[in-house]
Amino acid sequence: MTRFVNLVGRRFTRLVVIERAPNGLLQGQTMWLCKCDCGTEKVIAGPNLNSGKVRSCGCLAAETKVRKPRKTVPENNLLGRVFGRLTVLGREEDNRWRASRWLCQCTCGEKSIVVASRLITGRTKSCGCLAKERRAEARCFRAPPPPEPTPDFSDPLLKPWS
Ligand SMILES: [Zn+2]
Ligand SMILES: [Zn+2]
Repeated sequence: MTRFVNLVGRRFTRLVVIERAPNGLLQGQTMWLCKCDCGTEKVIAGPNLNSGKVRSCGCLAAETKVRKPRKTVPENNLLGRVFGRLTVLGREEDNRWRASRWLCQCTCGEKSIVVASRLITGRTKSCGCLAKERRAEARCFRAPPPPEPTPDFSDPLLKPWS
């Protein structure tokens, strides 16, 4: 007789062994019918339970996988928020890098679609009018000084030969 360890009633993380199932086809492994905390029943090979390789019906792995993308901006958290001149009106389709985009109303009356991260970091604060105004201001500021008055040679005092 082969050595047989009875696992019935034992718990392996989320799995509780209910009863022995018909042996697996592979290497005659002892198979166990287990019930997961989530309610799913699954037959699992004894060695996989003992080694800790299998700890749930699969729901544990699924949950761990799902948790990762939650780092991205939740879908509704920008709605109605104001960033500079922009008020967020609604969500748009993600761009091709899967960044969430939002339809914004600018105080100048224009609407524009802005990537969430640009709103949050403050890189985009208007439909573009703010930058245009700033550029215009900068241009005024850097406008060349009025040209030097050219000497009036009609003035007899300035004539080089006088
Ligand atoms: Zn489960
Ligand atoms: Zn604007």
